[in-house]
Amino acid sequence: MDGEALYLSGRVLWVVKSGEELHAKVLNDYPYYVRINLKTGENICTCPSGGNCEHVKATKLAYERGFYFDCPDGGMFPEACALSMLNEVPELGLEVTLKELRHALETDESGSTAAMLLLRATDLVERTKSWRKIPVLEDAMEEYSSLFPDYNLTERLKSRINLLLNKRSREEG
Ligand SMILES: [Zn+2]
Repeated sequence: MDGEALYLSGRVLWVVKSGEELHAKVLNDYPYYVRINLKTGENICTCPSGGNCEHVKATKLAYERGFYFDCPDGGMFPEACALSMLNEVPELGLEVTLKELRHALETDESGSTAAMLLLRATDLVERTKSWRKIPVLEDAMEEYSSLFPDYNLTERLKSRINLLLNKRSREEG
């Protein structure tokens, strides 16, 4: 996939502008971290190319189209700033979390990241009352329990989702 396709398919999870630097996380076969100096154009990417790659291009495109958070220079780690911004726009946070969850289910060998993302997605669905996303959680849950049948966490995650289902039916009367 080239940079434009990565951007258009929503693989750029977030972009943070901090002073003259852009920081981003891009989901490809792995999650990659990008850093670009806007003044000099110098860039680094954690993919095997190391920079000047499709992830850098996708990040620039996202930035040019206004998809970025402004974070104070030298404040937090860029990822911490992105997460706190996403927390303030929980609908967007949910979208990003579901993308990461899908990716983790495809690639996570331990199940730990997927479980953390499932928990976060469940919290965000509850917070934003995005009940129409519950089937997405249920599908992910099913996939999770078939991939990691030994995890004791499975039952707890399932009961969290059942709580949401109850909540939805109460709210919908
Ligand atoms: Zn790259």
